Amino acid sequence: MATVEWRSPANEMAVRQFEIAAEKLHLDKNVAARLQRPDRALIVSAPVRMDDGSVRVFTGYRVQHNDTLGPFKGGIRYHPEVNLGEVSALAMWMTWKCALAGLPLGGAKGGVSCDPAELSRAEVQGLTRRYTAEILNFIGPDVDIPAPDMGTDEQVMAWIMDTYSQHKGHAVPGVVTGKPVAIGGTVGRREATGRGLVYVIVEAAKHLNLDLRGATAAVQGFGNVGSVVAKELADVGVKIVAVSDRTGGLYDPKGLPIERIIEHVTRGSKNLTLEGCALGQKVGNAELLELKCDILVPAALGMQITGANAGNLKCRLLAEGANGPTTLDADRILREKGVFVIPDILGNAGGVIVSYFEWVQDLQNFFWTEDEINKRLKDILTRSFYEVLDMSRKEKVDMRLAALMIGVERVSRAMLWRGLYA
Ligand code: NAD
Repeated sequence: MATVEWRSPANEMAVRQFEIAAEKLHLDKNVAARLQRPDRALIVSAPVRMDDGSVRVFTGYRVQHNDTLGPFKGGIRYHPEVNLGEVSALAMWMTWKCALAGLPLGGAKGGVSCDPAELSRAEVQGLTRRYTAEILNFIGPDVDIPAPDMGTDEQVMAWIMDTYSQHKGHAVPGVVTGKPVAIGGTVGRREATGRGLVYVIVEAAKHLNLDLRGATAAVQGFGNVGSVVAKELADVGVKIVAVSDRTGGLYDPKGLPIERIIEHVTRGSKNLTLEGCALGQKVGNAELLELKCDILVPAALGMQITGANAGNLKCRLLAEGANGPTTLDADRILREKGVFVIPDILGNAGGVIVSYFEWVQDLQNFFWTEDEINKRLKDILTRSFYEVLDMSRKEKVDMRLAALMIGVERVSRAMLWRGLYA
């Protein structure tokens, strides 16, 4: 049985980040005590009939951190290392992320401890439907709206939407975002996180006087976020010198052909990985982080940049696509080295922003064009970037603390207005 330990390195990191922001804001101490913990945490068992006829029981989680600003919102992760502490940390970051972007949504996260690469399509469907059934009473368009995260995609969202709808007796598209356009999804959601990060990188580059034409970037993770970041950065003239995924990485100081790599991952590889892609030289995941480049984009797992390797980073700009890729020790080292950081809750907010647009469109049954989606996404992210930059200058703090301070302050202000129901 999977561990149900509440504390975990990710959760300790998220709570500590919050404490630092709370201290700097002189946050009301009762509010601060409340925000350290989630509103609700579910642990569920999902028995699944495997292809060989046996039954395997998976452990799933849904943690709802705070819904002061609106319904809970956050992705669902399928990964072997998913645990209660990690999901709780991710849920807390969602609360600050939604508040920072100015969305009327709270923060949640879910996950199942499993390795989707080892499961057949039928097994993933069975797992998704049973996990959904177990959390059914705690989600809904007005309550908690899941979305994709690592290891889940639009097909998984379609199964969640269908399972929920079958139980309700009618179609409820607004219960999840990141679903296919054919069943109420939005155009632009699949690309939103990566595209949004590139919008923020463009603003950061202006601030740093970094000419993106001819600049270099390395991207760790080549899934939904990493592959789109690599492609959109290449489209604005950045040379992508390295990319990687769980099978390893590719490196070419002259620049990699991103379209061909995407082609390999989506069509040429049986398990949707970089494995067997004969371009550039091989590079390890840890090695990639320390390559010479202007922009480093972690877009896979958390805690990749730590006290042990932060000193070796050679980038000018660290643009966080992944959630929680940088530990507190590493933050201190990066500050001393003068690396400019686009923190996760700012940089990867494009996903939840376009999820919000999808939810709004579902509730109104009225759909927007991709140009409208991209324009509104860019407006929100550009405004957020300058709000964080202004806060960082005014308070003389780094970009991460500035972003957290804005998010935490907005949630706290709303909590004080609503008061305590006891
Ligand atoms: P994904 O499942 O589409 O892709 C994950 C990628 O990471 C894959 O290429 C995988 O091979 C790689 N990977 C897995 N383990 C690795 C390892 N040990 N070393 C190197 N690479 C590894 O997931 P995604 O949706 O692209 O999410 C990536 C990150 O971005 C996660 O931290 C997620 O929380 C964050 N994020 C995603 C979204 C979204 O909209 N999908 C939004 C915000 C943040």
